[in-house]
Amino acid sequence: MKIICIGRNYVEHARELNNPLPKIPIFFMKHESCVVRNNKPFFYPDFSTNVHFEAEIVFKICRVGKKIEKQFAGRYYSEVGLGIDFTARDLQESARKEGLPWEIAKAFDNSAPLSRFITKREFPDINSINFHLDINGKTVQQASTKDMIFPVDDLISYVSQFITLKTGDILFTGTPAGVGPVQIGDHLEGYIEERKMLDFYVK
Ligand code: ZN
Repeated sequence: MKIICIGRNYVEHARELNNPLPKIPIFFMKHESCVVRNNKPFFYPDFSTNVHFEAEIVFKICRVGKKIEKQFAGRYYSEVGLGIDFTARDLQESARKEGLPWEIAKAFDNSAPLSRFITKREFPDINSINFHLDINGKTVQQASTKDMIFPVDDLISYVSQFITLKTGDILFTGTPAGVGPVQIGDHLEGYIEERKMLDFYVK
């Protein structure tokens, strides 16, 4: 499986990092070694001193597709979950300054904790799903998929122009505003609507 992550898909988040709003989706990749499941702890990596949390709605791809038209994109995902796109912001800043790839900051081991998945049929409108992240009991990110610049069907269509989507692949849809650093000992709890999806510690 592979993980496709969308960058700068929420207006307020693009602004908080002083990024221009994208005219087309921006994406980068994570991979299987990034995944942490079952609320296992996230171990703070020794190569960064500024690891940020980014809570994101994720979709699981349920069939193979390439060059998918937007009106058929809904057939290619069946489940919704919550993920954290852990980002070594210090390494990302230096990569950006030098025009280098982001993998070192985004695709390191254990950088993608994933929740369980819920069938999309449980949501009346996939483009209006509320989610939030609490750290140590305080809400730090709160948003709805209706705030996304590019809705999920646009993302599926766009990405599949370049990359074949396969069953089991994961799409991270971008993070809303409120990102910030995590510290060892932090307790992260993520919710989709009222459902608790993530509950783990930074160690
Ligand atoms: Zn992200």
